[in-house]
Amino acid sequence: MNAKVLVVEDEAAIRELIAVNLRRAGYQALPAADAASARRQIEAVLPDLVVLDWMLPDAPGIDLARTLRGDARTRALPIIMLTARAAEADRIAGFDAGADDYVTKPFSPHELVARVRALLRRCGAAGADPIEVAGLSLDPPTLRASAGELQIELSPTECRLLEFMMRHPGHVLSRATLLDGVWGDHVFIGERTVDVHVRRLRVALAAVGCAGLVQTVRGAGYRFAAR
Ligand code: CA
Repeated sequence: MNAKVLVVEDEAAIRELIAVNLRRAGYQALPAADAASARRQIEAVLPDLVVLDWMLPDAPGIDLARTLRGDARTRALPIIMLTARAAEADRIAGFDAGADDYVTKPFSPHELVARVRALLRRCGAAGADPIEVAGLSLDPPTLRASAGELQIELSPTECRLLEFMMRHPGHVLSRATLLDGVWGDHVFIGERTVDVHVRRLRVALAAVGCAGLVQTVRGAGYRFAAR
């Protein structure tokens, strides 16, 4: 079954351009012209990924991203934010709201399709085995993580980040290493983005009393503490 990509964009020409390119690449493109329509479609059928415009007529895309992250059913849904905003502060706000990736308009449709493919691959986690380190268990394909009886709420990107760290316990991991290991050949993502995701991962771990597992190594990067 081809992956279903919900394309939430109010400008018909751009929506159509994205949909055509996704279909050409073998995806099922489901168009939505506003946040309300996107919500209805997601309620009816859960897509595999959402391309989400920041500026929508009825609600900011960033609010929809936040809502999706806050709901157990849609928490693991990969989101690519689409926007004319290029400022780093906006980009970080987008990531903070739960976006996994970010494409700035004007964009090349080929680049967007490449990002969709990369994110789906990253989130599919290729049937990786469950892993247990330092009291945490993680099952990458389902994004289920727990500390003992406590569930840890993770977005797809935080899950990949945690998985990478758990597979390298005790190692000092530079931002470049994490970029390479978690985002792959994703040259558009900067090192500040790593910090944003590490912060989000720590918040998720703090909720189960495990914030100390991800340590900052001054001037070098991060380390997953193996207890
Ligand atoms: Ca728009």
